[in-house]
Amino acid sequence: MVGVRRPLANLGNMVAMIIGSLFFAVSGPLAAGEDAQFSQARAELVATIADRVQETRSYLGKSKLDPRVMAAMAAVPRHKFVPKNLQSAAYENRPLPIGHQQTISQPSLVAMMTDLMELPADCHVLEVGTGSGYQAAVLAEFCASVHTIEIVAPLGERAAEVLAELGYDNVQVRIGDGFAGWPEHAPYDAVIVTAAATDPPAPLLEQLRPGGRMVIPLGGRWRTQELVVIEKAADGSLSRREVFPVRFVPFTRDED
Ligand code: SAH
Repeated sequence: MVGVRRPLANLGNMVAMIIGSLFFAVSGPLAAGEDAQFSQARAELVATIADRVQETRSYLGKSKLDPRVMAAMAAVPRHKFVPKNLQSAAYENRPLPIGHQQTISQPSLVAMMTDLMELPADCHVLEVGTGSGYQAAVLAEFCASVHTIEIVAPLGERAAEVLAELGYDNVQVRIGDGFAGWPEHAPYDAVIVTAAATDPPAPLLEQLRPGGRMVIPLGGRWRTQELVVIEKAADGSLSRREVFPVRFVPFTRDED
């Protein structure tokens, strides 16, 4: 029996090897080359982000970000979240258009905003302004759950598809006006808003747990905006600090 089984097993291995090498010959080198090229560019982007953090340390109050945030920046394939024709620019440290007059944010800003959320382990977070889904993916790298809301339906749908393809099954995307938040899953450890509002939406502040933080760009459509961190103390009182000036697309409402 053993004598029979062995050759069969070997034959099976050989078939698997042949199939494997055929598969490699057809799709392997190209895909592998592309991935290597993107991961090299991504490593360089992470180094650029570290430099930007150093330069911004007087605003941030630190010269290094949370290692979990840096690891997430090193892991998330940003090229999957930008339009195909812009993939070669995906690892430059700048925002890029994603259609519908919206943008994927600058990577160093994504990293700094994520760090400013000061997230606990097993974090449970809300994002308003899914856009490409990139910021949600960065959060999903180390959070237990990410709920994200996008007002432009085709953007939200596309983001949900990309996130699912990449296996981020801890992210839920909802299409709609994020002003009211997502009360069913509240309270959140942190809320991040990635579009500029004039004031922090009251429902989002309510959905923050005591000790939680909101990171939000505040300022008018055409005026200077400031990135603001709002902290909710254990007694529910709010305090805010401005971090640095930013420029975001406007927070819109359904009636806009
Ligand atoms: N976080 C995104 C950046 C997206 S730009 C990324 O990583 O790619 C901001 C997004 O906020 C836009 O897609 C815009 O459509 C969305 N937005 C603006 N107002 C909104 C609102 N009231 N509710 C939900 N999304 C909103």
